[in-house]
Amino acid sequence: MTGFSSLLAAVPTGLWIDGTTRESCSGRRFDIVNPATGTVLTTVANGSVADARHALASAAEVQPAWAATAPRERSEILRRAWELVMERSEEFAQLITLEMGKPLAESRGEVVYGAEFLRWFAEEAVRIGGRTATAPSGNGHIAVIKEPAGPALAITPWNFPLAMGTRKIGPALAAGCTIIVKPAEDTPLTMLLLAHVFAEAGLPRGVLSVLPTLDAPDVVGTLMKDRRLRKVSFTGSTAVGKKIIEQSADQILKSSMELGGNAPFIVFDDADIEDAVDGAMAAKMRNGGEACTAANRLLVHNSIREEFTRALCDRIAATTVGPGYEDDVTLGPLINAKQRNAVAALVDEAVAAGARVRTGGTPIDGPGYFYQPTVIDNVPAGARILSEEIFGPVAVITGFDTEAEVVASANDTDYGLAAYFYTQNLDRASRVARALEFGMVGVNRGIISDPAAPFGGIKQSGLGSEGGSEGIEEYLNTKYIALTP
Ligand code: NAD
Repeated sequence: MTGFSSLLAAVPTGLWIDGTTRESCSGRRFDIVNPATGTVLTTVANGSVADARHALASAAEVQPAWAATAPRERSEILRRAWELVMERSEEFAQLITLEMGKPLAESRGEVVYGAEFLRWFAEEAVRIGGRTATAPSGNGHIAVIKEPAGPALAITPWNFPLAMGTRKIGPALAAGCTIIVKPAEDTPLTMLLLAHVFAEAGLPRGVLSVLPTLDAPDVVGTLMKDRRLRKVSFTGSTAVGKKIIEQSADQILKSSMELGGNAPFIVFDDADIEDAVDGAMAAKMRNGGEACTAANRLLVHNSIREEFTRALCDRIAATTVGPGYEDDVTLGPLINAKQRNAVAALVDEAVAAGARVRTGGTPIDGPGYFYQPTVIDNVPAGARILSEEIFGPVAVITGFDTEAEVVASANDTDYGLAAYFYTQNLDRASRVARALEFGMVGVNRGIISDPAAPFGGIKQSGLGSEGGSEGIEEYLNTKYIALTP
């Protein structure tokens, strides 16, 4: 850890409001903990309601000027920010690993992925469209233009400290919106560093604020009641998302919601088993299983279930668990004790009800919040682990016999974010991809996220899309102008 002391000494820890770093009006700070050791890395200013009002005042003040900026200029600032993040990618990766815990190789992957939203939306900023038409009555023209939705609030989770922010900041700035980011309390350092990078890239003061806080309900509630706020974009749990949707009713705020998931990962009997095991490792163990797209239920055809399970257990036996910044580590800690206890409780309950542990199955003693990579099967129907998001390195394997049966069981969830399946049969691929009630479907692959593709869920997994050409629409209002002939 001593190797990171200069990184930590240089990382900004004040609130970023109106183009400067400042302490909270409350004078309070809070601890940021290294999940690999449970020790304090640094402290961060604890944004108060007064700070939130200040950030919104600044965002509202500069909103008209930012909206009037040439799209090309906004594009170039985003592009420059992408370049700067890539130049400093090692610093970002180390910071992500320190505050969130994932292995450095995965943090490097997140930096490339997260930064790409800035480059992608730099390219989208200059392609904001509209349309014109002749009114069918012949009585005039219909002009449709797109306008920035106006000061936006982004609320982000801790599992991808950079990418969950850039996926909102990129399209907001491209569309001409100012934005206040409230990062997760466990991982605010990466976003604070990004704010400084944006300042260096030439972003005018007030366009982006970053407001870490331990008082999310009060800070967010205050902003959402303020009529100057016009847009909210939330990524996090479905339970909190529902609260934000309720609060958004007050002002009928334009809302985007990226919520929880319960992804099925289906392996048909005609799949390439080795490929499917690779995909399962990626879909389940990447990010320690702490991803909304993580495979939550592995549904494997009964004729290959044992072969698949053994191969997966063999692959898991090769996992090296430890602090993400140590060499060769492939699985880091969970984010905090609460999350580790929640994962342990799901496994313990399933085992008490008759599930069988094939490998792992317990927390790891010692400092930090580690849990063994785990495979369980024979889980009785109705166990909580089958219906709730696990958010940890635990693979739950269930068998099936027919395509109809597995599609019905995959769809039998309140969630609808991501689904995966493996087959070598093209007809089946096309049929099953359509039959799965999810916003995103991976066919013969365990990783689907791509900044150029629309990311989003249906049912209780969310509203709207991020990324792709769809992502910018979430920050634009449609205006119809009726013109006489
Ligand atoms: P969370 O819902 O606890 O917190 C998310 C954010 O909301 C944090 O910034 C938190 O401070 C804030 N928050 C919490 N309570 C609040 C309240 N009452 N009012 C306002 N803000 C509040 O989620 P988490 O534990 O940080 O993240 C894990 C969840 O995020 C999982 O359910 C995961 O599936 C989901 N997630 C979804 C996506 C997606 O794109 N669909 C991506 C990543 C994570």
